[in-house]
Amino acid sequence: MAYEQLKQEIIAYSKKIGIDKIGFTSTDEFSEMKSRLKLQQESGFQSGFEKGTIEQRTEPVRLMPAAQSIIAIALAYPSRLSNEPKSVVGDRRGKFCRASWGMDYHYVLRDKLQLLGEFITTKLDGFQFKPMVDTGELADRAVAERAGIGFSGKNCAIITPEFGSYVYLGEMITNVPFPQDSPVGDSCGDCRICIDACPTGALEEGGRLNAKKCLAFLTQTKDYLPDDYRSKIGNQLYGYDTCQVVCPKNKGKDFHLHEEFEPDPDLVKPRLLPILNLSNKEFKERFGPMAGSWRGKKPIQRNAILALAHYKEKSAVDKLIELMETDPRPVIRGTAAWALGKIGTEEGVQAVKKAREQEKDKTVIDEMDKGLRIEL
Ligand code: SF4
Repeated sequence: MAYEQLKQEIIAYSKKIGIDKIGFTSTDEFSEMKSRLKLQQESGFQSGFEKGTIEQRTEPVRLMPAAQSIIAIALAYPSRLSNEPKSVVGDRRGKFCRASWGMDYHYVLRDKLQLLGEFITTKLDGFQFKPMVDTGELADRAVAERAGIGFSGKNCAIITPEFGSYVYLGEMITNVPFPQDSPVGDSCGDCRICIDACPTGALEEGGRLNAKKCLAFLTQTKDYLPDDYRSKIGNQLYGYDTCQVVCPKNKGKDFHLHEEFEPDPDLVKPRLLPILNLSNKEFKERFGPMAGSWRGKKPIQRNAILALAHYKEKSAVDKLIELMETDPRPVIRGTAAWALGKIGTEEGVQAVKKAREQEKDKTVIDEMDKGLRIEL
């Protein structure tokens, strides 16, 4: 009973510090998630970004031997951009997914969890907690689902009744046996809108994601984007959230509850050409505070080149020729050459033919050949 009272105090405090939803669950093994992850591994569907073993991700006591409960939190983020700049011929723009709008949520949620942990410490001697946000081993979604934050959608997002799936998740394992909450009683039912809307067929029936086909994952890779996905990525620079946008449970959900998550329209829908000129320092200054910068400059620049190719943006030809001829990174040289072929101006095509005679890197030559074939 004493813990129930403390739980209520924690809930009240969480609201004060801007946590939009909180739930409590046990440290029992997440067995359903474990089977799902095993199946995903066996099918070769993992992204490679996963942290820890499947056991660490699904058995909380492996991460904290004294574990007795988990507190899950969610913070809502906005879904709509006001004053959205237009992407027009001669001045094309790319896009960051909604989960990368505003300040990197990892820091914001980590601070909230820390405050929460400190608050509980003042109430309870010997309180121990281990906070995690996304990059921790524990499977956030399984925790959030069991703690009653939301249900797990077929798009693999946690869908809350209040904020839809536009929420960031975090949790802390604690050494206190707090009373548990129940999962929310909702589900996708017969709906399969997100499965049908996914342009690459990355969502499998049964709420499984083939990360290798997922555009959100593919925007974060550092190598060449595989050919099959180049026409699908459009002007996306980081992440991909069509499977959330089409979800009927997200209809009308647009919460602006945290100043930190407010998007700067010029930053989340930035001009493409200037991105290609950024030094590492400039990239860090401009995009460093966003979650979408965590893989560095190269994937964003590669995607910017693909976006310019997608638009067949002729004003980018000079810059693309320069990159193809001088950039030290083969992926950038090769992608620029491919883009020049796709844009298909005489000047660009001739430049690719000429650069091919000097190019030594086999991967870049392959891209040049592909680019020239597009043009033919
Ligand atoms: Fe579930 Fe339909 Fe939303 Fe997909 S679009 S997550 S199937 S409710």
